[in-house]
Amino acid sequence: MKKTILIVYTGGTIGMSKSIDGYTPQLTSFIEQLNSIQELHAACMPNWDIQAMEPLLDSSNVSVEEWNAIAQIVADNYDAYDGFVILHGTDTMAYTASALSFMLENNSKPVIFTGSQIPLCEVRNDARDNLITALLIASNADIHEVCLYFGGKLLRGNRAIKFSANDLIAFMSPNYPPLADVGMDIRYHMTSLLNKANGEFHLQKLKKIPIGVIKVFPGIQFDLFESIMTQSLKGIVIETFGAGNIPASGASLLPLIQRAFEHGTLVTVTSQCPHGSVALGAYETSSGLKKAGAISGYDMTTEACVAKLYYLFSKDLPMYQIKELMEEDLRGELTKSY
Ligand code: ASP
Repeated sequence: MKKTILIVYTGGTIGMSKSIDGYTPQLTSFIEQLNSIQELHAACMPNWDIQAMEPLLDSSNVSVEEWNAIAQIVADNYDAYDGFVILHGTDTMAYTASALSFMLENNSKPVIFTGSQIPLCEVRNDARDNLITALLIASNADIHEVCLYFGGKLLRGNRAIKFSANDLIAFMSPNYPPLADVGMDIRYHMTSLLNKANGEFHLQKLKKIPIGVIKVFPGIQFDLFESIMTQSLKGIVIETFGAGNIPASGASLLPLIQRAFEHGTLVTVTSQCPHGSVALGAYETSSGLKKAGAISGYDMTTEACVAKLYYLFSKDLPMYQIKELMEEDLRGELTKSY
């Protein structure tokens, strides 16, 4: 039987048209353009409906409120559709895909994010193929997770990062293989897909938790971050060198992490290297972080770490449980290697 997919149009380049201030998202012209693509109504395509967010946004403006709104549309239509395609700007698509992967608890349907680098209104564009292929992928009942399809690769949403501002292959998944490669056929890698969830579908909405990301650099003066680390933020992601190393002068970071923890702030350590995993304690320069109470982000992307902190704090769990779950694999977002 033909599958029915809901397209959720949030904004982004894919549906933008030129205005005097540059490209902006447009609903009417985008719907007209969609209706003129005959292939979208071909016999081999699923049936589809479209629901647009109001207002349509450049994804730089997407935040917790919009994540809640997008996830709510999926939840409200969960039983009525076989799968979902979320059209989203590329700039923060990996954050939104990560957030929804956590928020849609026990999701067993394909939720496929896509967008484009060139709008559909242009003669040369990547929008048409990304949309058509995403619709076909969203009809695959073997997919039970939030994914990102772009430029011939189907990636796990919470493993993806945007790595090119210009190329049509703009996303990669440095620590997890693609879920499918798209060439002449769509070749799914079945063993890489998540299994179907057992429990009942539930939407966990997010709260506006104060979260911060600090990138370590040579010469960083950690004491300048004292007040935000110990008073303002609930969750902090520290992007360290290599496998989780901080400069020796960063010793002043360790009491800060301890004090932050006592104030109810969790510090998660990730790597500035897109590929590979944090291994706290492997070098002297990282063992102090572990002793001070920092959490290992293992091979999680910063995008996934940020979304996971929002998610776990929004569930109002006790601190010790949030700390434990940050280091557990909840939705295929991390591989524990040490
Ligand atoms: N600035 C745009 C956005 O993220 C870029 C894009 O869609 O490619 O909404």
